[in-house]
Amino acid sequence: MTFSIHGLAVARGIAIGRAVLVASSRLDVAHYFIEPAQVISEINRVRDGRDAVVSEIHRLQLSIGQMGGKEVPHELTALLDVHLLLLHDEDLALGVKHWIRDRLYNAEWALTSQLEVVARQFDEMEDDYLRERKADLEQITEKVLRAMRGVSSPVIQPQVRTNRRATQQDLLLDDTVDVPLILVAHDLSPADMLQFKQSVFAGFVTDVGGKTSHTAIVARSLDIPAVVGARWSSQLMRQDDWVIIDGDAGVVVVDPSPIILAEYGFKQRRVELERGRLARLRHTPAITMDGQKIELLANIEMPDDAASAIKAGAAGVGLFRSEFLFMGRRGKLPNEDEQYKAYRRAVEGMQGLPVTIRTVDVGADKPLDESLHDGAHLNPALGLRAIRWSLADPAMFLTQLRAILRAAAHGPVLLLIPMLVHASEIRQTMALIDHARVQLDNRGVVYGPIKVGAMIEIPAAALTLKVFLKYFDFLSIGTNDLIQYTLAIDRADESVAHLYDPMHPAVLRLVANTIAEARAYGKPVSVCGEMAGDVSLTKLLLGMGLRSFSMHPAQILTVKQEILRADTVKLRHWAESVMAEDEPGRRVAKAN
Ligand code: PEP
Ligand code: MG
Repeated sequence: MTFSIHGLAVARGIAIGRAVLVASSRLDVAHYFIEPAQVISEINRVRDGRDAVVSEIHRLQLSIGQMGGKEVPHELTALLDVHLLLLHDEDLALGVKHWIRDRLYNAEWALTSQLEVVARQFDEMEDDYLRERKADLEQITEKVLRAMRGVSSPVIQPQVRTNRRATQQDLLLDDTVDVPLILVAHDLSPADMLQFKQSVFAGFVTDVGGKTSHTAIVARSLDIPAVVGARWSSQLMRQDDWVIIDGDAGVVVVDPSPIILAEYGFKQRRVELERGRLARLRHTPAITMDGQKIELLANIEMPDDAASAIKAGAAGVGLFRSEFLFMGRRGKLPNEDEQYKAYRRAVEGMQGLPVTIRTVDVGADKPLDESLHDGAHLNPALGLRAIRWSLADPAMFLTQLRAILRAAAHGPVLLLIPMLVHASEIRQTMALIDHARVQLDNRGVVYGPIKVGAMIEIPAAALTLKVFLKYFDFLSIGTNDLIQYTLAIDRADESVAHLYDPMHPAVLRLVANTIAEARAYGKPVSVCGEMAGDVSLTKLLLGMGLRSFSMHPAQILTVKQEILRADTVKLRHWAESVMAEDEPGRRVAKAN
């Protein structure tokens, strides 16, 4: 039966494929396609993993037996019996074979896929005792996965499947092997998302998350359709359901009828044609109709993203979110050399264009590692994040600063500091940058010149710009956090997403004033939050005087097209009148 789920549109486009339900905790297993010739060996890998766990349980039972049953709780022996039963479960084994043989999933992916199927059956059981056996099933699956870890695939060549469009024909013929896959999860952390940069998935759906949560931001950078905040979707969908993601409308259609499928197939082709048309603008300079030259920069998460920035015709990187190098490493931070190599790769990848490296911004919805999260902080977005975290650990911060300074020897680098608010933090930061230079001098290590900028993303910073303009070479407005902190709305919480409003007059006033003051002071100012890549806001930002925008590479050409049609003289007056409105959003919506 066809039904649809409404969520928040975070990454544009249409994806049609089959649902792959994945629990966040199981995302760190590899997901790749195997060759048909590997089917038997992958099935054997699961069997060997299972046999290893069975032997371990038998050994445990034996040692319990030797204790003569003394001091051994009855529950433990019963539990071991249950685990053995589950390990020999026919459905589990047959299901795993199906995913490997018919879908060519690698062994770990097949095992976790079948776990999701069987776990759902347990959830639906009436009997409390049986329902609770789901935890045992998860435990033994984890054990089998661990046992398999030592035995990798004979050919570990992750096959990155091209996201071929599923046609109506596919649905009718049930051509299962070559159909795109849609990842469906309750939640995904930014680190999880990063794993999917080179992924087999053609789209994402999550139950939770806000439009500018970092998970949504990474989804946008992947440039594949995604919907977040689609509540209960991971409960309502089943493994393998046919799904359409409409990333523009924020709608997920499950089990579509052939008519609906044909309609979305048509929309999908239209989107592809539009992309092809936009690609022709890559080398066109971003100049408005009245001759204003606009700088279009890229936001990146990893050094290799420089390639997509170049491909989109970016004039440089306006925001390299360096924290992604620090995440998902079980708390082990990258050392100076590791970081230097990563920053250097980004700098060289940009072929002489400037790269703005933001110092690490962990905390809030970007924990260093999910499993290390102690949950002790009630308001992590207001806690030890970004520069506060860096200043709390000067040795770590100096390591990063030295790595960035060294990378600056290979091309133009700008250093960007997040979340500053106090003059004392600015002074400490500047002192540490000087100290990092002295440390490199003492070691006789080569480094390059850098410009230093501040992110304006806390209202208090926007209201005390003078001190920022005095110390820094440039400013970059982080509208994602500026909106969050101005309106007191958690950017990652879908339950208040309707109140997260870039068009609130207070937000517009802070953005417009920051642009005007920086320009009056003669300092470059850019916007690097998601507002910069939202084409419905391009004209308004131009009207406010913005001349530098930093966004995901995938958004650059659409924004450029809008710039080419704009006249900043007319827009200046229009922007002023928009900002004077009680509800500026309505005026802007009408103009688009
Ligand atoms: C912002 O806050 O607007 C920003 C660009 O930084 P981040 O989204 O990484 O917090
Ligand atoms: Mg921010």
